[in-house]
Amino acid sequence: MAKLYFRYGAMSSSKTAQAIMVKYNYGERGQKALLVKPAIDIRDGECIVRSRCGLMDECVLFADMPLDDVRSHVYDCVIVDEAQFLARDEVLLLVKMVDEWNVPVICYGLRTDFRGEFFEGSRCLMALADTIEEIKTICWCGKKAIMNARLDGKGGVAREGEQVVLGADDKYIGLCRKHWSEGKIKKDDT
Ligand SMILES: [Zn+2]
Repeated sequence: MAKLYFRYGAMSSSKTAQAIMVKYNYGERGQKALLVKPAIDIRDGECIVRSRCGLMDECVLFADMPLDDVRSHVYDCVIVDEAQFLARDEVLLLVKMVDEWNVPVICYGLRTDFRGEFFEGSRCLMALADTIEEIKTICWCGKKAIMNARLDGKGGVAREGEQVVLGADDKYIGLCRKHWSEGKIKKDDT
């Protein structure tokens, strides 16, 4: 039976790199994986996913997914990057792919926004995924980073603003909860 996977992690936890690697691994086995991203995330031009470490690959926008091909198993797997940006009905479409079409779906995304609140896509995936896995990365202090801080450009952490600011990856860092709460983005300069 196919499964719906949600693999979540904080900023810089190599989610996109892993999505690209999983697609590559399918290819190496002579299978095909379809790499998808939500239409909200078109910062790299329409159809590219790009990881911070430099890996990149072609993808299709969620709305342009070839559903007939997915249903008829032209693809062995569907991989969704930036899955936090999915709407609930899009997550429900993924559920249908898994349960009715028997196609495995692997989603990568952030758990929460810079305020520590769920993205809609993440909330729905947390509720509905068969398998939820954490991709770990660390805070500057060495503890696990579970929060995503938006930098305010003045050495601190933003507390207010729109949930989504695209094309601003460099304005975010992963922090442990304590340092996110304190707004402390690096070690004291001494
Ligand atoms: Zn920390």
